[in-house]
Amino acid sequence: MTFRFDNSWIAALPGTYLAAAPDPAPAPRLLAFNRRLAEGLGLDAAALETEAAELLSGARLPAGAEPIAQAYAGHQFGGFSPQLGDGRAHLLGEVVDGTGRRWDIQLKGSGRTPFSRGGDGKAAVGPMLREYVMGEAMAALGIPTTRALAVVATGAPVLREVELPGAVLTRVAASHIRVGTFQFFAARGDQAQVRKLADYTIARHYPDCAGAENPYVALFDQVIARQARLIAQWMGVGFIHGVMNTDNMALSGETIDYGPCAFMEGYAAGTVFSSIDHGGRYAYANQPLILGWNLARLAESLLGLFDADQDRAVDMANGLLEGIAGRYRAEWVAVMRAKLGLAGAEEGDGDLADGLLAVMEGQGADWTLVFRRLAGAVGGDATGIAPLFDDPTGLRDWLPRWQARLAPDAASRIRAANPAVIPRNHKVEEALAAATGGDMAPFDALVAAVSEPFVEREAYMLPAPQGFGRYVTFCGT
Ligand code: AMP
Ligand code: MG
Ligand code: MG
Repeated sequence: MTFRFDNSWIAALPGTYLAAAPDPAPAPRLLAFNRRLAEGLGLDAAALETEAAELLSGARLPAGAEPIAQAYAGHQFGGFSPQLGDGRAHLLGEVVDGTGRRWDIQLKGSGRTPFSRGGDGKAAVGPMLREYVMGEAMAALGIPTTRALAVVATGAPVLREVELPGAVLTRVAASHIRVGTFQFFAARGDQAQVRKLADYTIARHYPDCAGAENPYVALFDQVIARQARLIAQWMGVGFIHGVMNTDNMALSGETIDYGPCAFMEGYAAGTVFSSIDHGGRYAYANQPLILGWNLARLAESLLGLFDADQDRAVDMANGLLEGIAGRYRAEWVAVMRAKLGLAGAEEGDGDLADGLLAVMEGQGADWTLVFRRLAGAVGGDATGIAPLFDDPTGLRDWLPRWQARLAPDAASRIRAANPAVIPRNHKVEEALAAATGGDMAPFDALVAAVSEPFVEREAYMLPAPQGFGRYVTFCGT
């Protein structure tokens, strides 16, 4: 037996899912397998790997799997869709690891479900490998994230603008409870289901809330805490999710749904990669604002649980929503303190960080390299960092302010807090193109590099060469 499934969702939440079988992949071939993750889940990794092509593609279901598609709604670019749901994903079931933590095992790209609407239910090799490498990078950077256990080529084509090889990704997530899951039932006025969902979420992710005076208010408060921390961590590494719709925000606090995401290179607050984000709604510097916007949608969905008196419920929600900006700022300043190598916490630390961003804006200065090279500037030598700026005048004014605040061990703190390696856009594209053509070697090397982000590997440290051009990413491929 490969998985010992223990499927709590099916038992606890009837009415939130539909039974749905994955499509059998005609000629499954294992492209990537995450041995370390399998071991962490307490699985027999070697045994699973030998059967992964079949078991993790829909060709054959693992014993104990009870595949379902989960219902959810969501605001997409601000507009509400009352019914989205798993249109190309099948939750096989849940496993409990050796430390008692519960994980969803989900196939993505595994065929149509009752929630597919006009979609084909499929996914292409490139985007699924992209999700794999991005998740591994985030995990190695210490950022909560879903992760890929495997990617299997199905042997069937997927029709996009061109014909592409199809693939199924196996996603491991703390759960797939989204803001949009609550919205689905709240929008239907199904308060009983909203309550069951909240109780389940508390039991699975926030058990401390059960004993609170008002468990649902406590739940909302703790979701805010995790999400504020998560977005601050994204900002720290220059991660742009690209599609922060409410259906892509998880109550667990994990990063989920790697579609058009990418890491920023030259710093600019308005950076956008997604081809469809014309208004810049999900631009780099907007992410903390969308955090608040999405959590307001969650609060609306939970309102009936906060208090039977509507006015009191609204007051409670507003009180917490108003606190988000400050809580996020505190998390962000903590992230930036570490990145700047500052010991302890001082009043002006946030201003110091703001000051660096102000001098970086529009300078083409690579986000990752600037922070990494601060280590060399601790003693006043700006020769490593200054060339990253088109015009380093502002930087030269800022550096002494920062140096005055440093403790003697600052350089080693900086190197420990700032990665040398992130999934560089051109390296990702190079790896995916090779994989789509059948050569997995660049992908395997990239995964190895991003899995040790603090190890300096020359070939993975530089931004895209000029000729790479403006980077554009795509959703739902
Ligand atoms: P996403 O943009 O990946 O967050 O997905 C938004 C919604 O579209 C979800 O309900 C997905 O299940 C659905 N979806 C995305 N791609 C497909 C596809 N190829 N076939 C069916 N549904 C899809
Ligand atoms: Mg999604
Ligand atoms: Mg998706």
